[in-house]
Amino acid sequence: MKTLEDYIRVTPDFPKPGIVFRDISTLVADPDGMRLCVSQLAEPYRAAGIDRVAGLEARGFILGAALALELGKGFLPIRKKGKLSGPVIGESYALEYGEAEIEMNDDVLRPGERVLMVDDLLATGGTAEAGINLVERVGAKVVSCAFVVDLLDVGGRARLEGRGMEVFSLLRY
Ligand code: 5GP
Repeated sequence: MKTLEDYIRVTPDFPKPGIVFRDISTLVADPDGMRLCVSQLAEPYRAAGIDRVAGLEARGFILGAALALELGKGFLPIRKKGKLSGPVIGESYALEYGEAEIEMNDDVLRPGERVLMVDDLLATGGTAEAGINLVERVGAKVVSCAFVVDLLDVGGRARLEGRGMEVFSLLRY
């Protein structure tokens, strides 16, 4: 019987030397892997009163959409700058070199809505934190952040927990 970890492709030195890249593409390519992953991600949230699942581009869309369906909730895509039509708000965050920006439609969430934020992997926490800021700017609340992979040494969990956020992950390194 394969475990979740068995479905993930690990590539040393990608996208640059020294980075060990953990890719869920091989996991979601396998229906058993996808089912295992989504059911494990959904488990803590079945009775958590979640109103909406928000996914971070791009791998957070794959898992977030499946999780939203599993929980019977709607899905909200948080996208890289310039991709969404309609009214958007943006949030910049620091990368190792430079800056990135993500955007969200600001007319989807209602004030007070309880949002579950989803991505494949937590590294520095910069992407997730920017997503949390976007949700909070429209008066909704991120009640938890869920990831498949949590790179503990990189500090994202400590960063998010430091601002009072609940972090749930399936695999921690
Ligand atoms: P953070 O903002 O926490 O530093 O980085 C997390 C974001 O970068 C996620 O959206 C994630 O998809 C991507 N990312 C960073 N490192 C990796 C990695 O090793 N594997 C994968 N699949 N994504 C990564």
